Amino acid sequence: MIPFSPPRIDQKVLDEVNAALISGWITTGPRTKLFEKKISEYCSCKTTVAVSSWTNGMEVLLRWWGIGPGDEVIIPVYTYCASANVVFHTGAKAIMVDINKEDFNISIEKIKEAITEKTKLIMPVDIGGLPCDYNELIALINAPDIKRMFNPSNKKQEQLGRILVAADAAHSFGASYMGIKSGNIADVTCFSFHAVKNLTTAEGGAICFNLPEPFNHDEIYKEFCIKILHGQSKDALSKTKKGAWKYDVIEPGYKCNMTDIQAAIGLIELERYHENLQRRSEIFRAYDQAFQSLSWAITPIYETDIKTSSYHLYLLRINNINEEQRDSIIQSIFDEDVSVNVHFQPLPLLTAYKNIGYDISDYPEAYHKFSCEISLPVYYTLSDEDVLKVINAVKNAVNKTL
Ligand SMILES: *Cc1c(COP(=O)(O)O)cnc(C)c1O
Repeated sequence: MIPFSPPRIDQKVLDEVNAALISGWITTGPRTKLFEKKISEYCSCKTTVAVSSWTNGMEVLLRWWGIGPGDEVIIPVYTYCASANVVFHTGAKAIMVDINKEDFNISIEKIKEAITEKTKLIMPVDIGGLPCDYNELIALINAPDIKRMFNPSNKKQEQLGRILVAADAAHSFGASYMGIKSGNIADVTCFSFHAVKNLTTAEGGAICFNLPEPFNHDEIYKEFCIKILHGQSKDALSKTKKGAWKYDVIEPGYKCNMTDIQAAIGLIELERYHENLQRRSEIFRAYDQAFQSLSWAITPIYETDIKTSSYHLYLLRINNINEEQRDSIIQSIFDEDVSVNVHFQPLPLLTAYKNIGYDISDYPEAYHKFSCEISLPVYYTLSDEDVLKVINAVKNAVNKTL
């Protein structure tokens, strides 16, 4: 069976994890701090806070920005449930909008229609690793009529004076937009290092900051380190220093720090990330070559004049099929021992969101894309031979069904 997205665990990873385990310090410590520094360097962002997952990091960020009951946060309807759930946890309303015709990303036109005086934050999602249309988005939130509508409810919001852009970059670590790396495009960017993501720490995430003046990023870093550790004025490592046992709790904080065991995996992953992206791009090109000339195939956009994907998901579409046909094609592909997936089920198709009134008929583009989409395996250790096996399985399955 060809798996969909296994992690690359080899001797190098084992050695570094082992070194962390026997170092005498296994929770947040020197490896996590180094990992944060290396991420900031890689993305050229102003500061990075490592966390236990994208979900926890984004939720702390929403609360830091002051999101709560009465606020609206705009998210795409075509995303993983995490993007919506963190908004619901705060008591704010998730305003879901439809996606583009050409790619799977949030439509800036639809965002424009959805903005109200309650909008406090927009969360674009770089689906499959392709950056969203950030120039258009940034122009939109800075447009005088949109800025005038913005209704700040705390000091930070007053200071920014406009809607915050917090990117869901769970897929796009290593992607770039006009030469700028994901992590340094939006005001704030959250990455996921979950096991199936491009760069993994088993579970984990990072928040990268890129706020305009006069936001002070050293202060923000300190503030978040406290927020993600119960509001404690000192972390566990500082408390071990001679006589430094005493600490204060400044606020009732959260508990979502990254451990040095996770960071050990991440440091190795990051060190060789360029190889990973290189191999992923080769696989994307091989799939393109196999499918691009076929009338039933619509291959995904992953490079444009200004965008380069992180090659996270190869989102193949089959022309003119419905959901049932897509499902039966997937079954046939699995019958040939190849794992594939669907990214994503638009949120209103899922019970939790349907029950509170979101309706899929409001999102025709998302439904259309979902009903004919199949994501193919892409990962560093996928061999050329395996790529051929995937291609043949897909072709056979489509020919059998159409
Ligand atoms: C994986 C994923 C997340 C959640 O990441 P976790 O690290 O598992 O919390 C959020 N958004 C998208 C689009 C994802 O694919």
